[in-house]
Amino acid sequence: MSDNPQTGPERRLQLLLDAHPELMDIPLRAERILNENTRFAIKSAKLYRLADEMKAMLEASVTCRPGCSHCCHMPTMIYQHEAAAMAAAAKCQARKLGCRPAPVALHAALAFLGQACPFLVDGRCAIYAQRPLICRLHNSLNDDPHDCFIPATGKRTPIHAVDADFVEAPYHQAVLIWRPREPWGAIQEFFPTAA
Ligand code: SF4
Repeated sequence: MSDNPQTGPERRLQLLLDAHPELMDIPLRAERILNENTRFAIKSAKLYRLADEMKAMLEASVTCRPGCSHCCHMPTMIYQHEAAAMAAAAKCQARKLGCRPAPVALHAALAFLGQACPFLVDGRCAIYAQRPLICRLHNSLNDDPHDCFIPATGKRTPIHAVDADFVEAPYHQAVLIWRPREPWGAIQEFFPTAA
């Protein structure tokens, strides 16, 4: 814990929960969306909106600020349908990946540790409005934004964050149920030459 009572992950989290107790309703709302009798595309759009709503609640409390891009050097995992939406926004092509077991996809992604996402241009996301779900859910409570940078060695400082699984876990479940053969991989695998 930080020595400064105004900072530190625990203090930030407490301030956040005091300001936005409704944050704790997010998992239940995500679960409801998952169980709605609707198409995958509608569930997906609603879960994206919920992630953005959560981001708005967190804005004043988290360390993340415009222009900070340390997390954009992680091997960010996305689905093929998200790559298609990003490709449409950037007017480029996404590679088609094969369907792999999750541990295989995660192992392949380790090759991209420390490498910038191809959509990071001058420290900013070039497709911000169309960025994938996981990018909307990265919210660090650490004091030092640089803690989010994971070098090629994989050595990392623990990041205290508002749990991305509030929305990400139901999203994975929705894909598993409605699109079980959907390819999943690091952004750099889908866009090896986008930069
Ligand atoms: S898509 Fe945008 S927000 Fe996500 S990792 Fe790439 S540059 Fe960063």
